[in-house]
Amino acid sequence: MNAPSNIPTRTCRDTPVLKERGQREVFCGLTGIIWLHRKMQDAFFLVVGSRTCAHLLQSAAGVMIFAEPRFGTAILEEGDLAGMQDAHEELDREVERLLSRRPDIRQLFLVGSCPSEVIKLDLARAAERLTVKHAPHVRVLNYSGSGIETTFTQGEDACLEAMVPVLPETGARELLLVGALPDVVEDQAVDLLTEMGVGPIRVLPAARASGTPAVGPETRYALFQPFLGDTAAALDRRGAQRIEAPFPFGEEGTTLWLKAIADEFGVDDETFERVTAAPRARARTAIANAAESLRGKSVFFFPDSQLEIPLARFLTRECGMEAVEIGAPFIHKGIVGADLDLLSEGPTISEGQDVDKQLDRCRAARPDITVCGLGLANPLEAEGLTTKWAIELVFTPVHFYDQAGDLAGLFSRPLRRRGLLKVEAGA
Ligand code: SF4
Repeated sequence: MNAPSNIPTRTCRDTPVLKERGQREVFCGLTGIIWLHRKMQDAFFLVVGSRTCAHLLQSAAGVMIFAEPRFGTAILEEGDLAGMQDAHEELDREVERLLSRRPDIRQLFLVGSCPSEVIKLDLARAAERLTVKHAPHVRVLNYSGSGIETTFTQGEDACLEAMVPVLPETGARELLLVGALPDVVEDQAVDLLTEMGVGPIRVLPAARASGTPAVGPETRYALFQPFLGDTAAALDRRGAQRIEAPFPFGEEGTTLWLKAIADEFGVDDETFERVTAAPRARARTAIANAAESLRGKSVFFFPDSQLEIPLARFLTRECGMEAVEIGAPFIHKGIVGADLDLLSEGPTISEGQDVDKQLDRCRAARPDITVCGLGLANPLEAEGLTTKWAIELVFTPVHFYDQAGDLAGLFSRPLRRRGLLKVEAGA
């Protein structure tokens, strides 16, 4: 009953991937701090970077900060970059000052950046040293948010990956949900699964250090986001087993994601149907309303958020769109394979970027909507193309049934706006 219908005979699973390794236009992994610090309420993210890093964080936060923020930048000055000062000593002093002023901090992340990587500042060593000094009140971990060869969603992946080796061990059979979603969305998933009788359910990252989940060979885990490949590999190394499924975007993706978990935990079909029938119906109606203006329209994805493949599956299968090119920064078939299996053969699947060549392909295709980073959106709009900022898809709640209509709306709104502008221009 809940198996996917209309499975294409030829899918994108085996489509040859166009691999490009040229110039790229993406944000760096520091961006993830914006949603991670909201999620982890007793964590502090200390970027060890330059003034550019500090500016990026301030502008990405996008608000005046009245309360004390839970992120900051330890600025590497010229002397540090030239190796003339001991950056480790300075870092220790900064951390000391921070932790004595903020006793509420229980987890401190030292976040590497391009400058700290270039001067090979060993933040892993610093984190170990500082953990010894500040345990058990504060655990200090490190990860890199640098923009060298990475894209912005890798920041969350690197952060969660850093947490996995220090999670406590358990022999209990538990479900671990992995990814930093807004609380309201996470609660929907937990409520639906709890109603089916699935449990105990833990979440990584937890809101507070005291709720940190344990992991072990009986742990079964499901990813909320397709960009958590390194975290998944770290959990596998701890013996946990991943539940494979398409990602929970749209009615179909959410149902298949929930069903894979339900099957793993022995939920019968009747219970599954009873729990999901009403929200599924609501999601279908909401998508249908928003999808009216999407049906038959074409979409082109530039590689950015790593959500591209699951989103293309949603837009083509549930909103009637046609994908021209689906570009993703990295394609991990072990993670997005279930989504590729549902995508009809046809679109170009590209990995990595050579931005000028890809712009040429996009201009030639003249898609109805182009999903891309902020840096490309304005120039493409000026050329008459309608765009959607990829980063908005990560900042907006778009997972699960109750957000399915909003997800479709994120794509239909720019098309409607463009339509109105044309009418006004023609009036
Ligand atoms: S980490 Fe690198 S890409 Fe990101 S803001 Fe700092 S210098 Fe720029």
